[in-house]
Amino acid sequence: MEYKIALIRGDGIGPEVVGEAVKVMDVVAAKYGHTFRYTDVLMGGCAIDAVGKSYPDGTAETCKACDAVLLGAVGGPKWGHSTQPEKRPETALLSIRKDLGLYANLRPATLRPALADACPLRRETAEKGIDLMMVRELTGGVYFGKRERYMTEDRGEEASDRMAYSELEIERIGRRAFELARLRGKKVSSVDKANVLETSRLWREIMHRLAKEYPDVAYEDVLVDNCAMQLVRDPSQFDVVVTENMFGDILSDEASMITGSIGLLPSASIGDTAPGLYEPIHGSAPDIAGQDKANPIATILSVAMMLRYSFQLAAEADAVERAVDAVLAEGWHTADMAGDADKLVGTVQMGRLICEKL
Ligand code: NAD
Repeated sequence: MEYKIALIRGDGIGPEVVGEAVKVMDVVAAKYGHTFRYTDVLMGGCAIDAVGKSYPDGTAETCKACDAVLLGAVGGPKWGHSTQPEKRPETALLSIRKDLGLYANLRPATLRPALADACPLRRETAEKGIDLMMVRELTGGVYFGKRERYMTEDRGEEASDRMAYSELEIERIGRRAFELARLRGKKVSSVDKANVLETSRLWREIMHRLAKEYPDVAYEDVLVDNCAMQLVRDPSQFDVVVTENMFGDILSDEASMITGSIGLLPSASIGDTAPGLYEPIHGSAPDIAGQDKANPIATILSVAMMLRYSFQLAAEADAVERAVDAVLAEGWHTADMAGDADKLVGTVQMGRLICEKL
């Protein structure tokens, strides 16, 4: 089969980690008889330098003509100060999610067996294993509601951010979560604050309705404050965790931290029709850019997610994940991870080791 992949290498360590991910894809293509055609797409700080805006005209169209998008990272101190939205790298990230209709953000938090020691939780907790999928609603809620600032008569200035969720928005993310659970551990934990928020009460109503349609999937409601606690007390209880935008923003970072290094965690943003966008959860790490120090594993595991969720190539995805686990099991690591000094490697060498295992 032939697949078209848009590559947004971006800024900082983005080009380095995407470069290694492409080498891995090329090995997968050769081994399994696929063809991956790459289209480079300029976005982020490098696009500001080249054409004066972080999200050049035609970016969405180019991406939509592909089957999936792989993104390294965008941004950096060089472009952090502009007040003009088109000259800010983050604008490009929000725009592409919106233009591609990517309403579901999937972040697996998996404690890889070889890295149990890197888990900041108690050993007996880590030993139970962590393998959960955080499903965050990405295009609704308080981050997209009306923002206001106004003067009151007696309390000085006031600001407000409106949080709204529609039935449609809740139902489509809920379905994603139940469908994913069917492919995994068959359990959905829906996180809300239904004891306080009206949006959460609607959220819960719709989730209960959906739960009846998926009787083979176990379902539970979890209040967001309790979920934050349970993630550090016993994360092994979770399989798929689904939640709204802001709760998901916070909880997915917490879930990431308990599995060790930021350089290891992939993510996917998907919608109904447009190509999915796959990216490491880390940023452009300007402090180590260009030094062959960046860990490419999060981007390589993002490729595994792309193979699994956009191309339905489960065997190929499994092979990439197994190759990563095999390299880690031998003790090879980049500088962001703990390990013996004689097994410390750079970005390129880590990519090469993973390709060899494949
Ligand atoms: P960051 O994730 O870039 O870096 C945080 C720390 O983790 C740094 O010390 C960095 O060296 C380290 N790190 C990150 N990725 C690593 C990797 N693969 N291997 C080894 N070490 C790694 O976060 P930040 O410093 O807050 O942000 C830097 C820039 O990235 C900012 O401009 C920010 O806006 C941008 N950013 C972009 C995205 C994105 O493109 N999706 C996401 C987050 C941040």
